[in-house]
Amino acid sequence: MRFVIIVLFERMGANSSRYEFACSHCSERVVVDALVQKQLLGTGCVFCGRNVSERDFVRER
Ligand SMILES: [Zn+2]
Repeated sequence: MRFVIIVLFERMGANSSRYEFACSHCSERVVVDALVQKQLLGTGCVFCGRNVSERDFVRER
């Protein structure tokens, strides 16, 4: 799990959009980019493993 989170952060810093993910199941939060958002939608929360929806993401300004 920790490895996955590190990968998420290393991908940031590019010019892609960022989203704040707040899990509706475990309330954990992490900022991700658009690519990682897609991964999370496909694989579930990195913290608790449950399904996530697009409503769990808020685009950062
Ligand atoms: Zn979760």
